[in-house]
Amino acid sequence: MEAKKFELGDVVEMKKQHPCGTNEWKIIRMGADIRIKCEGCQHSVMIPRRDFEKKLKKILIPANPVTEEQN
Ligand SMILES: [Zn+2]
Repeated sequence: MEAKKFELGDVVEMKKQHPCGTNEWKIIRMGADIRIKCEGCQHSVMIPRRDFEKKLKKILIPANPVTEEQN
């Protein structure tokens, strides 16, 4: 199993979409709680990190794409 890695600025998809119909959230704050903002209506919510990890489905757009340059 692969651990989901997320960081500030990532756009993620959650298991549940926002009532506005959008399922794209941007991580705008990281701490003990994670604050994410709906890309559809700009509404933001704060959720505990553990809940966020449980509800996170996948990273859509990484803020800093990892480039592997190992030979
Ligand atoms: Zn929304």
